[in-house]
Amino acid sequence: MLEDESISMKDKEKVDCIICGDYVLPIDAGMTVIANGAVAVDRGKIVDVAGYDEIISRYASDNIVGGSGRVVIPGLINTHTHAAMVYFRGLADDLPLKEWLEKHIWPAEAKWLSPEFVSDAVELACLEMLKAGITTFNDMYFFEEAAAVSARRMGVRAVLGSGVIDFPTVSAKTVDEYFEKAERFVVDWKGDDLITPCIAPHSAYTCGPDTLKKAKKLAEKYDLLLHIHLSETEWEVGEMKARYGRKPVEHLEEIGFLDKNVLAVHCVWVEDNEIDLLAKRGVGVSHCMESNLKLAAGFAPVVAMLMSGIKVTYGTDGAASNNDLNILSEMSTTAKVHKALTSNPTVLDAKTALLMATRWGAGVLGLERTTGSIEKGKAADLVVLNLMKPHLSPVYDIYSHIVYSMRASDVETVMVGGKTVIDNGQLLDGSESEIMDKAKRWAERIKKG
Ligand SMILES: [Zn+2]
Repeated sequence: MLEDESISMKDKEKVDCIICGDYVLPIDAGMTVIANGAVAVDRGKIVDVAGYDEIISRYASDNIVGGSGRVVIPGLINTHTHAAMVYFRGLADDLPLKEWLEKHIWPAEAKWLSPEFVSDAVELACLEMLKAGITTFNDMYFFEEAAAVSARRMGVRAVLGSGVIDFPTVSAKTVDEYFEKAERFVVDWKGDDLITPCIAPHSAYTCGPDTLKKAKKLAEKYDLLLHIHLSETEWEVGEMKARYGRKPVEHLEEIGFLDKNVLAVHCVWVEDNEIDLLAKRGVGVSHCMESNLKLAAGFAPVVAMLMSGIKVTYGTDGAASNNDLNILSEMSTTAKVHKALTSNPTVLDAKTALLMATRWGAGVLGLERTTGSIEKGKAADLVVLNLMKPHLSPVYDIYSHIVYSMRASDVETVMVGGKTVIDNGQLLDGSESEIMDKAKRWAERIKKG
């Protein structure tokens, strides 16, 4: 018997890790649910996904992760944030958007932003996101080279958008300087296995047509994602009409900006003809439900956008307007709000909600070949969630549990590119308390002003 076992072990392919659970949700084209499933991971990649018995008959590993009472899903994707703004979390709340931005956030940024600030703050943002099962985030901010070093150190996958805006900030004095910085950042980081540079003109109302066209040219030169806020507030629509005689999406179409490499964030005040334009051009959308709710920006027509074929995904936006970086809660809130808005509880069903947070998230960021689903050849960006909790018992429909009942504290193991970064709910390599102490020290300085 023992001899037989040793012979069969020799026949098995040795892999770095086997991750298993009561359920594996690959988020493949058929939205398969694999009961008693497992994923074989080797050299950072997914080599196989199937039933546990099948995987264990083909592969051997010294490292078995997960087990009974667990569910394995692809890492969640946050398609819009300003990660470093975690240091402004709770600094100013309950204010009108314009006042919040102009009297609190922009002055705080002008006073405090620096590479050191961004480096320390992004560490905290990455820790928060990883502990909530987010393995990829898309950022828009300044000093992204500092963000890249921190995100890499924390082991999270990131698309980092070097910010461009038509007025001076601590980051750059002129539009040319923003572009010089952005291009240098792109050249320095393109080809990295975890960090993907992108270009992030802030919005169509803070960037004139020349700046937007220049951003588009840079994106085409290096095949980059164009990451832009679009039609967030009613004020913005009025401003664009007054300046250009066109609504924000019409304006971007007119100057030739829209294509499949554009990720439009918010799209709250888009009308039917604008939805058609976004769909026609293959533009991806990042919907930031909780930020829109908190700033009372309005309600994006998410169901209409989905019906027109637009890939709508979730963004947390910055922590100053949310106030956390949690895609599990965005999924739940978004599904519920849009059911209520359309008086239709069948829209945004749990499967669609999770698809938007995973495979579509990767798709709109141009990372569909790398992440977003548990399929052979993709990076092992995986999350193990613990189902052995009162609020997750009993289980009838696993998709329903993930979307409507899961909390960030149910995240047990997180792997990015085959490397375990969160183990038993805790950061594996590094000190959580040191990261939080650093945040406390910065906040003490910020409070003093
Ligand atoms: Zn934003």
